[in-house]
Amino acid sequence: MYFSLTQDQVNIQKAAREFSEGEFRELARELDKKEMFDDRLWKKAAELGFLGVFIEEKYEGMGMGYLDQCLIVEEFARVDLGIAHAIESTFFGTQLIQMVGSEEQKCKYLPPICNGKIRMGMAITEPDAGSDVSSVSTTAVLDNDEYVISGNKVFITNCSVADFLVVLCVTNPEHPKVHQRFSTIIVETNRPGYQAMPYHGKLSLRASNTGDVVLKNVRVPKENLLGKEGQGFYNIMEFFNRSRVQVAALGVGTAQGALDKAVSHVRKRQQFGKPLAQFQLVQGKIAEMATKTEAARSLCYRAASKLDSGTPDPGLSSMAKWYCAEVAVQVADEAIQLHGGYGILEEYGVAHYWRNAKVLEIFEGSKEVEKVIVAKKILGRF
Ligand SMILES: Cc1cc2nc3c(=O)[nH]c(=O)nc-3n(C[C@H](O)[C@H](O)[C@H](O)COP(=O)(O)OP(=O)(O)OC[C@H]3O[C@@H](n4cnc5c(N)ncnc54)[C@H](O)[C@@H]3O)c2cc1C
Repeated sequence: MYFSLTQDQVNIQKAAREFSEGEFRELARELDKKEMFDDRLWKKAAELGFLGVFIEEKYEGMGMGYLDQCLIVEEFARVDLGIAHAIESTFFGTQLIQMVGSEEQKCKYLPPICNGKIRMGMAITEPDAGSDVSSVSTTAVLDNDEYVISGNKVFITNCSVADFLVVLCVTNPEHPKVHQRFSTIIVETNRPGYQAMPYHGKLSLRASNTGDVVLKNVRVPKENLLGKEGQGFYNIMEFFNRSRVQVAALGVGTAQGALDKAVSHVRKRQQFGKPLAQFQLVQGKIAEMATKTEAARSLCYRAASKLDSGTPDPGLSSMAKWYCAEVAVQVADEAIQLHGGYGILEEYGVAHYWRNAKVLEIFEGSKEVEKVIVAKKILGRF
């Protein structure tokens, strides 16, 4: 199998690289330190057409594919995962709207997201429902023409900056099939009863907004139901099959960025009278880092291509998600090792890669949960 990018994809990659190199590098450390984001980057990304590239043209997206989006987020994460995530998360959930939303919902929400006018988020995780999504207990009770929503969500990206969240709720607690108890519902964050409390002092993704959400009798019109009632759990799983490949791309970019830093350092740093790059043990490390990064990239692109061919493969998406995340952590770790003591100084920028990489092994399905999915596919039920 010969695997190469089209000329359009090479152009997208180049444009994303120019944007991230030109705009992120200077700001990355400052935003990380101040635990804040600069919305101008989001607006510029929108102007350049980098948001929701896989959204159809009739909803003002680029009408391209998941692989195209992966190429962009990879280039962004190569420079800074914090900024990459903050930008990418503005359209985190559009995959689901595109898949199961009504025509009215697609027309209402997708164009302003592509144009950088509004941003969204996904609220699944709760204090007692992390890896086990089927333990979600936030309730949505139909009262005439409105859902009344109550519950607590934790670790919600964009909790205090999103215009709306897609919230996973229990709508039919008595259903004999546990997975059919849930629905996905759009909740605008300016509704009475919505409260967000962002975290401070995170290890990773400090430029990105994460926090707790309290929903206290929040009323939304029943038209805010996204997809069919009772299908929420399945919607979320289908969404993850797509979003996990984007996380894989963030991992590939992070690994490549850490590798670039290591290469530059070992060429310059002299010990025992010669550059570190001339020691074969150092060369071995560089070779392993590069090989793992390339293997991760191949897996990520293959999983993305499966999505683009209209035949999503949940096992492949999960393989790409855990493997690319683990490679990002391993490569960033070796990059610190090759920097010696300088590696732990923030000003050398490599510790930053390691801190950020760690979260990739945790969110949107921890690496253990991804392996459970892969193993289930291989072993079947027994
Ligand atoms: C920065 C950040 C942003 C996030 N953004 C969002 C968001 O926007 N929306 C959202 O809904 N959530 C979000 N999350 C939450 C994230 O998806 C969860 O943290 C993740 O799913 C893990 O859940 P948990 O933290 O409750 O860990 P737990 O589920 O308690 O897991 C703890 C450990 O136990 C392991 N474990 C659990 N079950 C098993 C098992 N069956 N077999 C083996 N090991 C197992 C896990 O792998 C993990 O290592 C975010 C998290 C972070 C850190």
